[in-house]
Amino acid sequence: MSERTFVIIKPDAVRRGLAGAVLSRYEAKGLRIVALDQRVVDAELADQHYAEHREQPWYPPLRDFITSGPLIALVLEGDGAIDAVRTLNGATDGRRAAPGSVRGDYSLSNRENLVHASDSPESSAREIALWFPGLT
Ligand code: ADP
Ligand code: MG
Repeated sequence: MSERTFVIIKPDAVRRGLAGAVLSRYEAKGLRIVALDQRVVDAELADQHYAEHREQPWYPPLRDFITSGPLIALVLEGDGAIDAVRTLNGATDGRRAAPGSVRGDYSLSNRENLVHASDSPESSAREIALWFPGLT
C-alpha cells in the first residue's frame, strides 16, 4: 500500500557532500519525492521533532548537532515506504549498521548517522505535519 514517510538528510551528510548520494538511493529504490526543502532548524523545532528523546542524556548534543547547519527535510512516497526507508538507512549506530545501508556505508557514529526516517504511520503523520504543515 502506498504510504508517505518523513526523512531528514542530517547536517553531517550535507556538510560531507553526501546528500546527493543518499537521495539517489531513495530514488533508485523507486520512492517518489513529494516534498524537499533545505533549511536550518532552531532548537524549538528540534525539541518538537525529538520529543520522545528529550529526557535522554544524549539529547542536548543531538540538539546541537541537528541545529548545526543546513539539513534537507523530505517526504517520500511509495509502497511500504516507512519500512523501506528504515531498511535503506540501517541501524541507528553507524558502527554496527550493515554494509550496504546508508549508515553502514557512511557513518561511524551513533549520533552523526546521516539520516532520520519515521518509524511508524503515527510518527510519519506527526512529523510530516510538523515539518510540512502545508502538505496535503
Ligand atoms: P533512529 O534515528 O534510528 O530512529 P532513535 O530514534 O533511537 O534512532 O534516535 C534518534 C537519533 O538520536 C539517532 O538517529 C541519533 O542521531 C541519536 N542517538 C540515538 N541514540 C544515541 C546515543 N546513544 N548517543 C548519541 N546519539 C544518539
Ligand atoms: Mg527514531
